Amino acid sequence: MENKQVDVLIVGGGLSGLSVARFLQGDRPELSLMVLEKSERPGGAILSHSEEGYLAEWGAHGFLDNCAESRELIELAGLADEVERAPLGKFVRYVCLDGKLRLIPQSPKKILAAGLVPLWAKLRVLGELWRNPLAGEPSVAAWVEHRFGRALLPFADAVFTGTYAGDIDLLKIDAVMPGVRRLEREHGSVIRGLLKKRKTLKKDESGKPALPAMTSFRGGMARLPQALASPLGINNQLLYRTEVRRVSRADDGWEVETAQHVLRCRDLVMALPVNPSLSLLEPVAGSMRPPLTALPEARIATIALGFTDSAKVPFGFGYLAPERENRFALGALFSSHMFPGRAPAGHVLLEVLVGGRRHPERLELADGELISRVYDDLRELIDLPEPPCFTRVLRPRGGIPQLEEGYPALLDWQTRLQQAQPGLHLCGFGWHGIGINDMVKEARKIARAVGERSARAAGEAEVKPVYF
Ligand SMILES: Cc1cc2nc3c(=O)[nH]c(=O)nc-3n(C[C@H](O)[C@H](O)[C@H](O)COP(=O)(O)OP(=O)(O)OC[C@H]3O[C@@H](n4cnc5c(N)ncnc54)[C@H](O)[C@@H]3O)c2cc1C
Repeated sequence: MENKQVDVLIVGGGLSGLSVARFLQGDRPELSLMVLEKSERPGGAILSHSEEGYLAEWGAHGFLDNCAESRELIELAGLADEVERAPLGKFVRYVCLDGKLRLIPQSPKKILAAGLVPLWAKLRVLGELWRNPLAGEPSVAAWVEHRFGRALLPFADAVFTGTYAGDIDLLKIDAVMPGVRRLEREHGSVIRGLLKKRKTLKKDESGKPALPAMTSFRGGMARLPQALASPLGINNQLLYRTEVRRVSRADDGWEVETAQHVLRCRDLVMALPVNPSLSLLEPVAGSMRPPLTALPEARIATIALGFTDSAKVPFGFGYLAPERENRFALGALFSSHMFPGRAPAGHVLLEVLVGGRRHPERLELADGELISRVYDDLRELIDLPEPPCFTRVLRPRGGIPQLEEGYPALLDWQTRLQQAQPGLHLCGFGWHGIGINDMVKEARKIARAVGERSARAAGEAEVKPVYF
């Protein structure tokens, strides 16, 4: 059994853990740190699949470039030259309504002008200006219906299918859109709040608010964790196949046990999805029991389909299908439109999403059945004269944490636990959001907090030279 002591231990070599490590190295290069990762590769939920000239994703397909922390991370990773962008201003999205793909315009004014909902429903949306904030912890569906009316439910459903693969009757608005809920409380109306905020938004050359771009990398999303991990691996600061089994308090710091090591540190960063984090935190929390023992997860499979360009795929990001449409697939990304190098010349790549919170049973189907069900579904929406010439089913191991009943209380518990346990820092999939930008923002905060604690400790060290 190897014993070691470092300033900072990071549990989890997914995007969150690797981001904390790299931010911290930039801020405080003098600190010793180590990242412990259970699997044999970096990146956790982020993994790209390359085969026969197609490039598909097991997990995340991209992130918006409107997050300063993510831009900083790309620079730190040295990936600025590999970035690929699909601007929202150029690429449109579609929603499946009454069995047809309907284009969703990019600006609120154009959305209102488009004939997607009847006139009475548009007037009802404007009625939002006079609706009182909804008390309690409403579901997304209840909240959208209260503020904007029933007609907008399919659109809200499509949005939360696309982000959480979730169920809007279960997701809680305070958990998934805390910023929008703040606007509602502060301005008495979301529309009024957005109009006020609009004045402060960055504008493009024509004076319109600048729309962000969907961002990935030429070699796929996996390039990000790979580039973050590479220098850590070279310096033996990242250990693969190293599962943390127990964490506990030790003197002024923390002790972490794996099958091979007992490691000690001053600052412990748990950069894990909520559920594995909760299991490891049980002994640390003691009498401070969390309000939930686990979050539900939504699992999805990605079915990558390659077609010759006889396929008439409408130009854009892709489409999403609200539940009421009763379709087999949740939606599809038109991946080679967004990022042209993702299919061989003369071919297109579609990545179709299946399963989600409402249909986990579909993931039990064999690959062949999934491919044929998805193809049948797509053929009703898109002109696909020939069957796919490339197929691959990607089944990610983990799911997407669902921010449902009790989640705000869980976040509150997380804050209290960190206050009660100095040197313990929690981030990762499901804590404060689920998207890549959410993870990177939290990682940035944690790197700063660890740096500040170290600076204070260094000041104190003159008085008290021995730490442990
Ligand atoms: C199917 C899917 C699609 C997604 N699509 C998008 C998208 O398009 N855009 C977007 O912004 N986000 C998307 N996301 C979310 C995004 O991938 C996550 O926000 C992000 O990858 C989470 O990173 P993480 O490091 O917090 O967690 P993870 O990626 O889960 O990493 C945690 C790591 O910890 C390791 N680990 C677990 N337990 C232990 C232990 N005991 N000891 C040591 N190591 C341990 C795991 O092996 C893993 O490597 C998607 C997620 C999924 C699953």
